Amino acid sequence: MLYISTRGHPDRKHFCEILLEGLAPDGGLYLPERYPQVDAATLVRWRDLPYADLAFEILSLYIDDIPAGDLRALCRKTYTESVFGTAAIVPLKPLEEGVYLEALSNGPTLAFKDMAMQLLGNLFEYELARRGEELNILGATSGDTGSAAEYAMRGKQGVRVFMTSPNGRMSPFQQAQMFSLQDANIHNLAIEGVFDDCQDIVKAVSNDLEFKRRYRIGTVNSINWARLLAQVVYYFAGYFQATRSAPAGAKVSFAVPSGNFGNICAGHVARMMGLPVDQLVLATNENDVLDEFFRTGVYRVRASADTHETSSPSMDISKASNFERFVFDLLGRDAARVRGLFGDQLARTGRFDLGADPAFRQARERFGFTSGRSTHADRLATIRDTWQRFGVMIDTHTADGLKVARERRRAGETMIVLETALPIKFAATIVEALGREPDRPARFEGIEGLPRRVTLLPASARAVKDFIASHCEP
Ligand SMILES: *Cc1c(COP(=O)(O)O)cnc(C)c1O
Repeated sequence: MLYISTRGHPDRKHFCEILLEGLAPDGGLYLPERYPQVDAATLVRWRDLPYADLAFEILSLYIDDIPAGDLRALCRKTYTESVFGTAAIVPLKPLEEGVYLEALSNGPTLAFKDMAMQLLGNLFEYELARRGEELNILGATSGDTGSAAEYAMRGKQGVRVFMTSPNGRMSPFQQAQMFSLQDANIHNLAIEGVFDDCQDIVKAVSNDLEFKRRYRIGTVNSINWARLLAQVVYYFAGYFQATRSAPAGAKVSFAVPSGNFGNICAGHVARMMGLPVDQLVLATNENDVLDEFFRTGVYRVRASADTHETSSPSMDISKASNFERFVFDLLGRDAARVRGLFGDQLARTGRFDLGADPAFRQARERFGFTSGRSTHADRLATIRDTWQRFGVMIDTHTADGLKVARERRRAGETMIVLETALPIKFAATIVEALGREPDRPARFEGIEGLPRRVTLLPASARAVKDFIASHCEP
């Protein structure tokens, strides 16, 4: 399988070549040149596989430069009961008739990002050892991504993590999760500023090409193809569980709390491969860039000042970094048009409008997408209702997904809502909704009291560069 850029760059690359890269050289995103097709007989064959072996089957359709034995071993090392809490890895929990939660948040940092990041850690270590290289991962986080990256990379050979975060702005639990890590290859940098300052620093350091090359700076952001690919697996796993006693060919729908469009893009890929998915229901919070697109065809990037701080903060985005991948497929893989929209028009005007384009209607009819939005009041009501009726406590992001799922579900439809985090990560809103603290998994008892490993730095790219330089040999 070879990978191409959504903006038409002529290079064709293998999986391991793009594994450690971000954007394609022309600023586009990488996609496989075609989606491997999975037929009914293959679905039958995969149905009862353990999660790690299902992951191997799916990944091996996309990866031709890691020997099969090694790839299977990497999957089995990643998706274990001891790391993800159950043998099923992503068990379904039934709610009302026809509605399930798919538990994706029982990994080390209690958010679905572990599903992909844990695999990425093992893939990075494998590939770096094979090349005899090292990598310094530089990132900016407001919570979930940074901790998932650190827990995935801790103790890995050949990898160091330098993670910036806005000092004092993450939830106490998130701070404790990250700062209590004592691994020598993990560096927490608390920046005297806000999240935007952290992102600006990462950009400034990455734009210094000489520094970037000399210190082998890389990232693990959500546009990484390997992360997206790892997420395809749980759509298959959810489908198999929900259709256990259904007739062959039965369809299910998925509802996905969305921010950067990474999670739901994996659902799109699964559907393109032939998984019988009916609707892909995209849920946003008050930051409704994507809901607006699927309602109107207008994609309008928000300014930082127009990006709301909500109680589902991991969905507080102003633009959706993976969205270009879907638009590429929507426009029949017309790379010249994608380059015009994302490379030119968006940069010039901050928006584009496909509302009058016949392709826009296909978003729903051919690709199954629908959408909706949810507000703080909706989240409180959904958390309360789900707790009262089913005794199930959900987090704020999952609540956004469930609220929109209930609006979009049609009679008789099987709807799987992806649970993207556990409530303990966002305790303040749970207390507001339920008047009680969320349950805390035993392994996180008392983490706020553990010794912390974090360095406070001014909001300056120079200071971050100096820190990196003094913590690794070029
Ligand atoms: C990252 C995240 C999301 C959004 O996922 P995308 O892939 O960016 O769409 C939703 N919920 C939680 C809890 C997250 O951490």
